[in-house]
Amino acid sequence: MSKLIYLDNAATTKTAPEVLDAMLPYFSEYYGNPSSIYDFAQKSKEAVTKGRQQIADALNTRKEDIYFTAGGSEADNWALKATFEAYKSKGNHIITTKIEHHAILHTCEYLEKERGAKITYLDVDENGVVRLDELEKAITPETILISVMFANNEIGTIQPIKEIGRIAKEHGILFHTDAVQAFGQVPIDVDEYNIDMLSSSGHKINGPKGIGFLYIRKGVKIKSFVHGGAQERKRRAGTENVPGIVGYGAAAERAVRTMKERTAKEIELRDYLINRLTTEIPYSRLNGDKVRRLPNNVNVSFQFIEGESMLLMLDQNGICGSSGSACTSGSLDPSHVLLAIGVPHEVAHGSLRLTLSDETTKEDLDFTVDKLKEIVQYLRSMSPLYEDFIKKHQQ
Ligand SMILES: *Cc1c(COP(=O)(O)O)cnc(C)c1O
Repeated sequence: MSKLIYLDNAATTKTAPEVLDAMLPYFSEYYGNPSSIYDFAQKSKEAVTKGRQQIADALNTRKEDIYFTAGGSEADNWALKATFEAYKSKGNHIITTKIEHHAILHTCEYLEKERGAKITYLDVDENGVVRLDELEKAITPETILISVMFANNEIGTIQPIKEIGRIAKEHGILFHTDAVQAFGQVPIDVDEYNIDMLSSSGHKINGPKGIGFLYIRKGVKIKSFVHGGAQERKRRAGTENVPGIVGYGAAAERAVRTMKERTAKEIELRDYLINRLTTEIPYSRLNGDKVRRLPNNVNVSFQFIEGESMLLMLDQNGICGSSGSACTSGSLDPSHVLLAIGVPHEVAHGSLRLTLSDETTKEDLDFTVDKLKEIVQYLRSMSPLYEDFIKKHQQ
């Protein structure tokens, strides 16, 4: 079989060699519990402090405001559930968007059904951008939290986070952002953007899986999420994932250090891929904003195509892509994000997300486009809908 062409970096990334190297000693050599008092455990404790500092530096903030979790989903759950419990005497209204990750949407549904929360799900425009005037209009005296993702995992659209932060601050409302896709890809300054809480995940930035963090600005009265020991300033109990934290810190440091060069290269390849796909394959369209877009995200819909068949045929050629988000592929519902930006059901079904890494080459993309042209042509040749469409157009 041909070599693997991995174009699903929004689902997860390869752990970078320098990240893995940093982690290894903390499995077998320095395995002490950071909470123990003997000198041997100090190595582990110092490693956790260093990782926390590296993360804080990447956000231009204090390390005391970084709380490690077991990933992005936990950080999202914590931000919403614990903020709601802590502030519900002030109000029960939360504003979010229709295009959030399920870690946010399903948590909102839980709060609505089980905890008496009132949730507003904002529409987005045809490129997936939140309309600021609609956000302002949705605010009520009961609103305690605005949660808007920094960048979308399916279509790559980057939100006007600074403006949303300003609106939240003007109204005295807490602002949380799911920055799992944005952290390490675009510069983030939590003070400049007035972000009160921010979720992120290690495995999306060439770090390990199963580690994430929630940034919580000093003064936010959010409740503890996991009860037990005094770890994470008594807000999230459990022995620290020391190798995970070491790897995450190294990955964050690496992401910031390489950001400029890496993303410039990715943007060039991204636009090359978008251009080839949308000009060389008829009846295709780009999903998401052309400019306000993650450097590595391509999402294109092909009419008269069933996304799953396209993915399977790409897989037979060693190409890994995604038809929606990793969590929803396997189900037959079209992506909630594509529906929210107005893509018709049947077109949404034929969508493909390809997300690049710094290892992606132009040759990889040329091979992918060439294969995809054959695949689309083949699948359309078997589609009765396509046949009807062509017949109509020939009359
Ligand atoms: C991947 C992802 C998550 C979930 O992170 P995990 O670490 O896999 O739990 C949440 N939000 C967004 C936008 C993501 O892309």
